[in-house]
Amino acid sequence: MSVQFDRIALIGIGLIGSSLAYDIRRLGLAREIVVATRSPDTLKRAEELGLGDRYTTSSQDAVKDADLVIVSVPVGASESVAKEISASLKPGAIVTDVGSTKASVIAQMLPHMPDNVHFIPGHPLAGTEKSGPDAGFPGLFEGRWCIFTPVAGTDEVALKRLRSFWEALGSKVDEMDAEHHDKVLAIVSHLPHIIAYNIVGTADDLETVTESEVIKYSASGFRDFTRLAASDPTMWRDVCLHNRDAILEMLARFSEDLAYLQRAIRWGEGDKIFELFTRTRAIRRSIVQAGQDVDAPDFGRHALDKK
Ligand code: NAP
Repeated sequence: MSVQFDRIALIGIGLIGSSLAYDIRRLGLAREIVVATRSPDTLKRAEELGLGDRYTTSSQDAVKDADLVIVSVPVGASESVAKEISASLKPGAIVTDVGSTKASVIAQMLPHMPDNVHFIPGHPLAGTEKSGPDAGFPGLFEGRWCIFTPVAGTDEVALKRLRSFWEALGSKVDEMDAEHHDKVLAIVSHLPHIIAYNIVGTADDLETVTESEVIKYSASGFRDFTRLAASDPTMWRDVCLHNRDAILEMLARFSEDLAYLQRAIRWGEGDKIFELFTRTRAIRRSIVQAGQDVDAPDFGRHALDKK
């Protein structure tokens, strides 16, 4: 694969930033990778793992002369990062992010972006419940979607360059507006995580079932929720706060549908219950057919977990 950018600056080097670093190097997509993260401990770990060519705790320094800047920090930190880097960005540079919410990231970053850089918000739909530089691995983005939510007037050439970059990582790229992205993600990602956090919290609070029983018998379903509920608290707090409207809308729908199911169970309406469970089973089959999961025991998590 050929070099696409002379210098790539990675701002934030957790699960996503470090996975990007592995693939950029493996695929030879940049001549130089500069790694920036705010804490000296994380920076030291990134250096031990050999994730970059240069390391700094100053995102300002990192972006100097970078042709591509990828911001991979919790969405609530987007504005402070944008403020820090804005004066040091190279004219003509592409600035992108990987944040799980898009309207809020645009509102936080766009006002600080100079006119002579190309700001293209993005979101790779790939990840695990782990965080930090040790959590990253090569191939994370392979076969996964990356969604761009370009703002009005985005330069087509810059968009094409960023698309080629993600395609080189093995991703499929889609474009949509930020509000639509936030609604779609509220149902496919944010709500499942909130439900998982909630059910695991409820089990933890139960007085009639002991914690050891919850753990001992977890393979009967509970275990699959605990994977989502083990996700990074900072990242998911920020997602909840920064996609508030769409999440509340989906939660309202969810509560209504749950009340319907609750009623069907109360009144012994087996047909209604069976009809819903049959419909949902078909969705699972479609996901496997679309290559977004494998039809292996344990939802294929062991096969996918390469670390
Ligand atoms: P992570 O593993 O927790 O790493 C976070 C990185 O951001 C670290 O380098 C951390 O630096 C830095 N950081 C944390 N708080 C910060 C702050 N207030 N100001 C500046 N830097 C800060 O996170 P991640 O999983 O890679 O997620 C990064 C972004 O990707 C998030 O916006 C998330 O929504 C998005 N995303 C995540 C997933 C996923 O499955 N995890 C999937 C797709 C997109 P220090 O360690 O030095 O403090």
